[in-house]
Amino acid sequence: MKLYVSLTMTAAILAAGSLSSPLPMMAQSAYDAQFIEYPTYNGNDLELLVDNSGTHFRLWSPKAQEARVNLYDNGHTGSPYQTLEMKPDAKTGTWTASVPQKLYGKFYTFQIKWNGEWKNETPGVWAKAVGVNGKRAAIIDFPKTDPEGWNADRGPEVKNFSDVIVYEMHHRDMSMHPSSGIANKGKFLALTEDGTVTPLGEKTGIDHLKELGVTHVHILPSYDYNSVDETNLQDNTYNWGYDPQNYNAPEGSYSTNPSDPESRIREMKEMVKALHDAGIGVIMDVVYNHTAENDGSNFELTAPGYYHRHWDDGKYSDASGCGNETASDLQQMQDYIINSTKYWADEYHIDGFRFDLMAIHDTETMNKVVQELKKINPSIFVYGEGWTAGDSPLAPERRALKENVSKMEDIAVFSDDIRDAVKGHYTNAADRGFATGKPGNEETVKIGIVAATDHPQVDYSKGNNSKFPYAKSPGMIVNYVSCHDDLTLTDKLHKSMEGEPEQNMLDAAKLAQTIVFTSQGTPFMFAGEEIFRDKQGVHNSYKSPDSINAINWENKSKYHDQFDYYKELIALRKAHPAFRMTSADDIAKHLVFDKIDSFKTPNLISYSLKDNANGDEWKEIKVVFNGASHAQEVNVPKGKWMIVAQNGKIAHDGSLGTTKGGKISLAPYSALILAR
Ligand code: CA
Repeated sequence: MKLYVSLTMTAAILAAGSLSSPLPMMAQSAYDAQFIEYPTYNGNDLELLVDNSGTHFRLWSPKAQEARVNLYDNGHTGSPYQTLEMKPDAKTGTWTASVPQKLYGKFYTFQIKWNGEWKNETPGVWAKAVGVNGKRAAIIDFPKTDPEGWNADRGPEVKNFSDVIVYEMHHRDMSMHPSSGIANKGKFLALTEDGTVTPLGEKTGIDHLKELGVTHVHILPSYDYNSVDETNLQDNTYNWGYDPQNYNAPEGSYSTNPSDPESRIREMKEMVKALHDAGIGVIMDVVYNHTAENDGSNFELTAPGYYHRHWDDGKYSDASGCGNETASDLQQMQDYIINSTKYWADEYHIDGFRFDLMAIHDTETMNKVVQELKKINPSIFVYGEGWTAGDSPLAPERRALKENVSKMEDIAVFSDDIRDAVKGHYTNAADRGFATGKPGNEETVKIGIVAATDHPQVDYSKGNNSKFPYAKSPGMIVNYVSCHDDLTLTDKLHKSMEGEPEQNMLDAAKLAQTIVFTSQGTPFMFAGEEIFRDKQGVHNSYKSPDSINAINWENKSKYHDQFDYYKELIALRKAHPAFRMTSADDIAKHLVFDKIDSFKTPNLISYSLKDNANGDEWKEIKVVFNGASHAQEVNVPKGKWMIVAQNGKIAHDGSLGTTKGGKISLAPYSALILAR
C-alpha cells in the first residue's frame, strides 16, 4: 500500500535544508530527453468531442502501436458493446475514431498497444465525467448539469490578493459531526444548506462562514481521487484526497450518487453557486505534481513514460514523496496543467488554485497557468507550496520554489517563516514559538509581518528559515500558523504548553492569529481553529476516521469568546487597508518597527502602520505582540489612542475605550492594537 504522507511535512524539511545548502545543479535527465521529440497536440477536442455530426474520440499517444476505444452501457460492470479501432495521425501524435450518434449516457475507455501488448483500459487523462470509482469515462450533456442561474454566477471580485482571507476546509470535516445539523453530511451539497445550527442554536456550514466573514474557502482535493471506494460509501472511509486519479472530474464520494456521472458535477456546481451567492470565492487544491499510481496511472496507460519525470536510469523520480512526479517541463504536460485549471475555472467557476508541492512544477509553467487563468477571470488567485518533498531532475533554478517566487507574477507561496516562528517548529510537537514564550524568533516573525519583502528594519540574516527577502510584493505571500498538515493550532498548543491552564492556550491561539491577520500578505486559516478545533493530537490525519477529523460544532458554544475574537479580527482586517498594503515600497515606508532589544525583552514586537497607510482612515495604528508567559510593558507615544485590541479583547468600533499612551502593560500571550 502506498502511504500518502503529510506532503507539506516532508517538504518543509527539504525547504528548510535547501536554504542553507542549495541542491546541486541538474539538467533534465538523459532518459527524459527522448520525450522532447514527441509531437504534441493542444486542440480542444482531446479525447472526446460530441457535436451534431456525432461522437469523436482523439487520444494523444505518439508512440502507441495501435489504439482503440471500448464503448459501454454501464459505468463499471459488463463488457463493451462495441470496440472502435482508432486511426493514427502522426503529425499530431493522436489517434482518432468517430461514430455518427451522440452517445450521451454511454461510457468509454481507451486502450493502446505497446511493445506488442494491449495495456489495461483507461478513461484517458481528459475524462470530464466518469462512472463510479473513475474507471470509465462517461459521455454526458454538460449544460444539463448547470444549476439554475449558472450563466449569471460569478465569484467575488478581488482587487488585490492581500484582500483575500482564506479558510481551508475538507468536505467531511465541515459536516460529518452530528452537531453540524447538516443533512448532506460529507457531500458537496453540505455547503448549500441554509439555516443549519448546532443543538444549542449556533450557526454551522455556510451560515457559519458568512458569520465569520472569510472571503474564500479553499477546498481540499475535490477532483476524482483514488483512495475512497465509491461503491461502498457506508464504510465512511476518510481521505484528504492527495492521490489524484481523474484530474478533470469531481470526486464521487462527495456526491449523493457516485454511479450517476452527472450527480457529482451538478452538486459541485451547486456548492460553488451557493458560496458565490454568499459572496464567498472557491479555491481548489490541485495536485498535478504526482499521480496516485505509477504504471497504473492514466498518464502511463495513455502515453507511457511521457508525463512523469525519470532519472537517467529510467526510474521514476519522486520529488512528491508519493512514488513519482510529473513533468511540467514537457510541452504536453505543461499544456495539460494549463488546460485543466482553465477547465475548472471555466466549467465550475473556480476562483483560485492552491498548488500542492508547487516546486515540482517549473516557474515558466506556473507563469503561463496564471496568464491564461487571468484571461478567464482577473480575480483568480494562485498560490502554492514553494517546496518539494524530495529531489527532482528539474534544476533548482527552474523550480517554483518559495525562493524563486519573485520570478513568478501573481503567484503566492506559503510562509513557513511565520508559521514555525509563531507557534514553534512543526517537526517537534513540544517546541514553542514566539507566541508561546520561546525567545529568538522575533526577527523571523518580523519577516512574516513584512510579507518577506525587503524592509530596512528587518535583518534577514537572523531569519530561521529564510535568509533573504524573497518576495517582491506582499501579494506573493500567504501567512498562516496551521493548515490540514501537521498538528492543528489547538493540538500544537496542547502539546507545547502542556501543564498550563487551557486559558493560556486560548490566549496564545488568539495572539498567533492576531499576528497572521495583521501581517502584510494574505492570511490563511484552517477550518475550525476559530472554535478551538483539535484532532486529538493526530498530526497526519490524512486517512484518520471522522471521529478524529470532523469539526465538533458544539465547540462553538464552549469557545464562543474565541469565535467572537476571530470574527472581529477578520472584520478589523477587512475594514482597514493598512493591514493590506499592495507593494513592498509601501510596507518599507509605512510599517515602522519600534526599537526593542530582543535579548533584554524577548517575545515582544511593536510596530506602527503610519501616515494613513494604504489609504486607511486611521493615521497611525500601533500593533504590539507579547508572546511571553508574563506581562510585559511597552512605551506608546503620549496622545489619545483608541483601543482596538487589548488583553484578549478586540473591537474596532471604539467600544473598548481609549488610552493616553505612555507605559502600557500587555497580559501574557496577548496583543495590543491602538489607533489614532
Ligand atoms: Ca474517486
